[in-house]
Formats: sequence, C-alpha cells, structure tokens
Amino acid sequence: MSATKKDDKPVAAETMPSGTTSGTPQLLLTHHLKQLRLPTILREYDKVAREAAREGIDHTAYLLRLVELELIDRERRVVERRIRQARFPAVKSFDTFDFVAIPSLNKMLVLELSRCEYILRRDNIIALGNSGTGKTHIGLSLGLAACQKGFSVAFTTAAGLVHQLMEARDERRLLKLQRDLAAVKLLIIDELGYVPFSTAGAELLFEVFSQRYERGSTIVTSNLPFEEWTSVFGAERLTGALLDRLTHHVHILSMNGESYRLTQSARRRKPTAMEVGDPSAVEAVDPDTGEITTR
Ligand code: ADP
Ligand code: MG
Repeated sequence: MSATKKDDKPVAAETMPSGTTSGTPQLLLTHHLKQLRLPTILREYDKVAREAAREGIDHTAYLLRLVELELIDRERRVVERRIRQARFPAVKSFDTFDFVAIPSLNKMLVLELSRCEYILRRDNIIALGNSGTGKTHIGLSLGLAACQKGFSVAFTTAAGLVHQLMEARDERRLLKLQRDLAAVKLLIIDELGYVPFSTAGAELLFEVFSQRYERGSTIVTSNLPFEEWTSVFGAERLTGALLDRLTHHVHILSMNGESYRLTQSARRRKPTAMEVGDPSAVEAVDPDTGEITTR
C-alpha cells in the first residue's frame, strides 16, 4: 500500500504524528528513545558523546558503546525482575556461605550445582539436615544463581505452597496455579517436614511434584530423613510415589551438623582469650567476616 493519499495531496503538517515536524532534536530523541524503551541510551548518550568527542571516536564506535551499555543494563534489569518474581524471603549467595562450618556438605557438589546445569537436565536437589545448618541459605543461593543464569525461579515453603494450593482450589483457580508451578524452571520448596499436611494438602503437593516430573527442577529442603516423610504426607503409598518421582534424578545434599545460629551466638558470648588475659593471644581480623578474632 502506498503511503500517500489517494488524491495525492501532500500530507498536511497537522496530521503528522506529533513531534516529527517540530521541537529540538534533543526533545525528539528523548521521545523516541522512551518509545523504543532504551532508557540507558537516553541517560548516557550525552555523556558518552562528550567522551567520544574527547577520545576522537567515530560515530559507529559511539553507537556501539551506547548499545552495549543498554544491553548490559537490560540484562541486569531482567535478572532483578527474575529475583523479584522468585519471591525469595531474603537474597543470599554462596559468597556469604561458610563451607567450613558444615563439613557434612559436599562443597564440590554444591559449587558444581551453582553452575545450574542440573536445571537443563531437570534434575532435583534435596537438602536434608537438622535445623540451622544452612539449608535455606543454600536453597536461596542456588535460586539466586539460577536467576542470574536466566532461569525462572519460584521460592516457597512447603506449608505456604499447600496453603496457596488449597486457597486456589477453593477459589477455582487451581489449574492456573498448577500450570504456573509446572512452568517455572526451578521451584524451591523449603522446610518440608515442619508441618504435617491434611490428606487434601498432601495430594495437592503430590500433584505439583507429578506435574513437574522430568519437566523442571525442584529443590526441597527438609529436617526429616526420608524414612520420616510418611509422617508429613500421611499416606505411605503417596509418600512412596512422591519419593519415586523426586529422587529419580536427584542430588542429595547432606547437611547434618551443628546449628550455625547456635554456634555463632555461642561464639559471640564466649569470652575471648584476650578477655581472660591470655598473654599469648593475638588479635586478628577475620578477612571474610571482618570479625575480630584471637589466635
Ligand atoms: P536451616 O534452613 O538449615 O534451618 P538457615 O539456612 O536458615 O538454616 O541458617 C540459619 C542462619 O544461619 C541463616 O541466617 C543463614 O544465613 C546462616 N547460616 C547457616 N549456615 C551458614 C554457613 N555455613 N555459612 C554462613 N551462614 C550460615
Ligand atoms: Mg530453613
């Protein structure tokens, strides 16, 4: 189709889209960059133009620099959005995790998992151990790593998820929730075992595992060894079927040990050698935590 009107009359200025016939170039550029959703180029073009002039950079290199800035920023915004959508109760990473504190945990395996290839294989992870040993921290760190690698993530507690499922069923939007839960690349279900489920709750949770089976990765953390999972799900057969699906392709993180919370607070309370007047004690700053320690 031709852009000109049938009677071939020139298009009147007042019928042109606003902004294309009047206004300064800066105003137009601002408008167009907003419309194209290029906020970083909008913010940086003037500063980068001055830099380019100073450094004698040509137009192509100038444009390239701007486009690269936009791409870097866009990636950062996408990761931030994924982190928001994951609904982590806190953002934690491996940087702040002290592997020395939990010798039962296979550090090499965790670091390998942090590369997220298990998500491509749709493998599951189960972290088992007593309270306070860093299971939630590991779950959050793996979740963050997945967001940074570009996977969609959802974080929830087992009790929270069952509650959500029951509520969705009552409000006749269960299918939609089940579809959303099946679609997410990594689902993290924290704290399985603290609260036993009703029969309906256990069945709904079982369905989530079934629907995700070989479709997406699931991380489960639990304070209970597998033998005791029946006490949470009620029915033995249901528990067996669930474990069957969950453990088909699974990495088990064994996290039994002393509670990090308890040992940390005990360390804070214990008088140091300096305080009790040990002359051989030397004060030092822990490079990781910044904490003052004595040797
Ligand atoms: P769990 O989920 O196993 O009960 P959490 O992950 O909630 O334990 O850990 C309790 C607290 O201790 C959290 O603030 C967590 O960040 C911290 N923590 C636990 N283990 C470690 C560790 N090995 N290194 C650093 N922080 C830890
Ligand atoms: Mg926890």
